[in-house]
Amino acid sequence: MSFLSGFIAIIGPPNSGKSTLLNQLLGRKIAITSPKPQTTRNRIVGIYHGDNYQMAFMDTPGIHQTRSPLHKSMVNSAKASLKEVDIILLVAEPVDITHDSEMKAVLELLGKLEKPALLALNKIDLVKKENLLPLIESYSKLHCFDAIIPLSALYRDGLEALREELVKRLSPGPQFFPPDMITDKSEDFLIAEIIREKIYHETRQELPYSSAVVVEALDEDQERNLLKIIAVIYVEKQSQKGIIIGKDGAMIKRIGRKARMEVERIFSARVYLELFVKVEKKWSSDSRSLRRLGY
Ligand code: GDP
Ligand code: MG
Repeated sequence: MSFLSGFIAIIGPPNSGKSTLLNQLLGRKIAITSPKPQTTRNRIVGIYHGDNYQMAFMDTPGIHQTRSPLHKSMVNSAKASLKEVDIILLVAEPVDITHDSEMKAVLELLGKLEKPALLALNKIDLVKKENLLPLIESYSKLHCFDAIIPLSALYRDGLEALREELVKRLSPGPQFFPPDMITDKSEDFLIAEIIREKIYHETRQELPYSSAVVVEALDEDQERNLLKIIAVIYVEKQSQKGIIIGKDGAMIKRIGRKARMEVERIFSARVYLELFVKVEKKWSSDSRSLRRLGY
């Protein structure tokens, strides 16, 4: 039997559950998630290894209309992945989208691409059974999807059905990635993202969007199974630095503790995490700062 492989772009509106779905498909957390839109900023490749096949998923920042330089870079990276892949997986929420202008833009893009497109209708745990069929019907009228798979990424419902639909559409091809490779991202990147996720969970309003995280040093002490990490949280204003640090350092301690516990779980190692906060004025609108921070 020949080996099958394919590249799959996961696209869709912000907050529809793209990163959650990727993590669940892989059975490993490689992409951070949060209830806030625009959590994902970079394209992340996650590789699923089957017995005789390999699927490379690209998680993308949501496609949305935007003006800010950071968001432009995010949307461009989502659009660029569409051109490179074999299959497109649109993740949408089970809501009426007939009048949603962003969804229309996404569907228009799909129409032009002429590639297999599957719709993962996510978060069905939130809809009543009797409302599901009408929703599927209304989506099927908007685009000629190759398949529509209702699922709940969070509760791992419908994932096997989705995997089967995807496998059907892989092509004979080489093993692009070594069998032990799960993502294209470095440990540094994953750790910085986990810290950023905790900032998304712990802070409000514009603060998550004004934060960026860089791991400055990562030392592995293999004998003691210890990871030593030094990371910097960048914010845009002095006042934001105050909020991230919190009263008597309470906030940064909480962010640090939650990030440390998660890194310990993912890497199965003890972790020593030191966090610093620095102000870099307007990094999210300065192209040089954006590049330096990895966007
Ligand atoms: P993304 O912006 O499309 O990558 O969305 P995320 O994966 O970050 O998820 C956005 C929010 O939706 C998070 O709070 C997730 O926990 C939540 N979510 C994702 N999938 C499901 C699901 O199947 N059911 C429910 N109820 N919530 C979900
Ligand atoms: Mg995401």
